[in-house]
Amino acid sequence: METVIKDNWTQIIGFLKENYNLNSVLYRTWIEPLEVISESDTEAVIAVDESKSGDVTGLIDKKYRIPLQISIEAVTNKNVTLSFVTKRTAEKNEGVSSYYNESEEQKKKALEEKYPWLQSGQSFDNFVVSSSNSLAHAAAVAVAESPNGQVYNPLFLYSGPGLGKTHLMHSISRYIIENHPEYKIRYTTSENFTNDVIDSMRESKQNKTALPNLREKYRNVDVLLIDDIQFIIGKDSTLQEFFHTFEDLFIAGKQLIISSDKPPSELDLEERYKTRFSSGLPINILPPDYETAMAILRLKQDQSDIKLEDEILGYIAENARNSIRELEGAYNKVILFSKLLSRPGEKVNREMAEKALKDLISDTSKNMLTADYIIDVVCNHYNVDKERLLSERRTEDITVPRQVCMYLCSQYTSLTQKAIAEKLHRKNHTTVNHGVNKIKDDMLVDNDLFQTITILKKKLNVD
Ligand code: ADP
Ligand code: MG
Repeated sequence: METVIKDNWTQIIGFLKENYNLNSVLYRTWIEPLEVISESDTEAVIAVDESKSGDVTGLIDKKYRIPLQISIEAVTNKNVTLSFVTKRTAEKNEGVSSYYNESEEQKKKALEEKYPWLQSGQSFDNFVVSSSNSLAHAAAVAVAESPNGQVYNPLFLYSGPGLGKTHLMHSISRYIIENHPEYKIRYTTSENFTNDVIDSMRESKQNKTALPNLREKYRNVDVLLIDDIQFIIGKDSTLQEFFHTFEDLFIAGKQLIISSDKPPSELDLEERYKTRFSSGLPINILPPDYETAMAILRLKQDQSDIKLEDEILGYIAENARNSIRELEGAYNKVILFSKLLSRPGEKVNREMAEKALKDLISDTSKNMLTADYIIDVVCNHYNVDKERLLSERRTEDITVPRQVCMYLCSQYTSLTQKAIAEKLHRKNHTTVNHGVNKIKDDMLVDNDLFQTITILKKKLNVD
């Protein structure tokens, strides 16, 4: 924040006194108690100390605004508009500068100084919602709207890497900061939490306040978000500190939001903590389907001056769909290549995109996956006969494996639903569409199924 006016305040009011012939009584009563609260190139906010003279903001505004503006300009060369608030209002809003008459840019800067993670720019506005993440998104919005520990507590989000957990956590934080400034909020990664615990334990030998300070930091909040909890697991003292923090906040009805790479049931933890973590309904985020991948790429295109044709976007979406991070990486690579390789005015062509993504694509075995191979692996895993799976039969023991095949083929091959239907000897693609959606939906609530898919992905080497 700028401080030119603040730094020169004594000279400014001195100038005012001298040039406007203020007598000492007026000067001491009205002018001396004023305090600069915030300032920008065009505006400044001044607090009036109402404990000394009552709320006289109106009077000061009327009588001294112009003289003060002129004095400021005379001393600092800054031409600003002034506004006045009482000290109490100023203190109440401390830290949440949205209230001051600052420009948008300055508000943003001040917030980012206080909450550095906001620099990621991630928010609900730039989160693409699709079937693979809609439940997680809806729960995140619900908690952000009412962060009172009563909607989902804890909100537990889990998924493989690069699928949007951190993006959602940042979005929740941003929403709460902007819309519920009365809530005290802290976001941390489990890595930072661990470092804090280790540091304060080390310090506590010399400094008695180290541990209380740590507790104050993490327990004196209304909302605590902790990202990538799996990295805490296994570190005894940190784990203990975390659980005490968790219990304290949970019992006090504070909102907890946790992300992890696996569901609570699979974390290496005491049973009672798994139960606690599960109590607010753990929610899974799945890899993006083709449409989601395209939507995300289109969003990136909106912010880019290099425009790619739909065919090229489609090629990226088809080949880099394991995670959104991978998708973004692939997209950035194509853009970079096009900057390096194409001549002015030349459009990115398929060949260029293939070249850019060569390493990425040969790195993943995905492109070598065929429907037949997936069907073999699934049949083998469920111990069902391939012929029965491909038959007309509809008994449950083969319906689920069949739908799992549809799901895996849709995720890890570039076959259309029609082609998948043919491979599985189904009459039309709506059966495949239904099967894929059924598995996607069930995976969110059926942990056994989720685990089966995870294992199958490992077997297929696409994890
Ligand atoms: P995770 O925390 O699950 O590993 P991130 O939240 O870091 O994943 O997401 C990886 C990248 O993908 C980030 O750049 C993020 O902004 C982007 N991303 C993830 N999900 C979405 C989405 N639904 N819409 C837009 N961007 C997304
Ligand atoms: Mg993350």
